[in-house]
Amino acid sequence: MLIGLCGGICSGKHAIAEYLEQHQGFQLLELKRKDFPKITDEPEDVRWLQGSEDTSKEGNRPSPLVFETVGSLLDFATKRWQGRWVTTDIWESATIDRFLQRPFFLLINVDAPISLRWKRFAERCGRRQLEPPSLEKFVLWNDRHLYDKTIGYASLTDRAQVRLFNSTSSLEELHAALKTLDLADEERLRPNWDQYFMQLASLAAQRSNCMKRRVGCVLVRERRVISTGYNGTPRHLTNCNEGGCPRCNRGEGGGVGLSTCLCLHAEENALLEAGRERIREGAILYCDTCPCLTCTVKIAQVGISEVVYSQGYNMDQDSAAILEAAGIRLRQFSPPQNGLIYL
Ligand SMILES: [Zn+2]
Ligand SMILES: [Zn+2]
Ligand SMILES: [Zn+2]
Repeated sequence: MLIGLCGGICSGKHAIAEYLEQHQGFQLLELKRKDFPKITDEPEDVRWLQGSEDTSKEGNRPSPLVFETVGSLLDFATKRWQGRWVTTDIWESATIDRFLQRPFFLLINVDAPISLRWKRFAERCGRRQLEPPSLEKFVLWNDRHLYDKTIGYASLTDRAQVRLFNSTSSLEELHAALKTLDLADEERLRPNWDQYFMQLASLAAQRSNCMKRRVGCVLVRERRVISTGYNGTPRHLTNCNEGGCPRCNRGEGGGVGLSTCLCLHAEENALLEAGRERIREGAILYCDTCPCLTCTVKIAQVGISEVVYSQGYNMDQDSAAILEAAGIRLRQFSPPQNGLIYL
């Protein structure tokens, strides 16, 4: 796999690269010409300081492999995708497009509080007998590094599969957090089947028009999607969110007045769409919410073998009892969060 680390000045991306080298068998890939984002009024010293500190003399850090172009770096990693490679030299959106096309590439963004990054930067200046910038000046540089239309890396941040928030105050603390996190876990590169189908269910939920709650469902057999469903009013009726279901629009608590509700549940829609003939033995129902009682009895009747849900609802125990009695496996699976991971 190839891990690309991006992030602001002193966010800790080089420290993370070094950890991956020393503890997880990664090797650093570098570009010969460092195209750091350039800000014209920035002193040369500062520009240079943005790079990693040269620690090769301190530890037994192997020298990095250096490439003339982004293309040659990517070719190298593509031919050796089973190896472990890491780079901190990715800056441009256009480059990232090419990298993200590869199934072995993981983009990780590293961020940290600006006050802490400034402190780290000032310490770095101190070690080189350089005058550190004021916090205000550092903030102004940082804004331009992040948001400048031509050189800003904010667009990269947005596309990172993993986003780390590195507020650690020492290398020991950072290493301990990284050890627990295990960035080299191959599952980060490609969702497993549970993740894949649950994400499809969540995508279906986004089409929901029910005022009460967005729910999505996917029916699967032999790892193939048979049908999908989301909740809302039936065909040709006014959508729930446009006033179609008076009960849902009254905004009462969950479960109140269910018998007067005109909305079909996501599971019902998926079951109706597939039909009993196509469901057959061995079908798995993925739903982002644990099925309610009325859906549960329908699930039992059509011959579903397993129900997988991610979030609980307000009658999980009752649903579980019915599914158990019907001989249907029930398990909870929550896909990993994509938000910020605090180190
Ligand atoms: Zn509704
Ligand atoms: Zn309703
Ligand atoms: Zn239901």
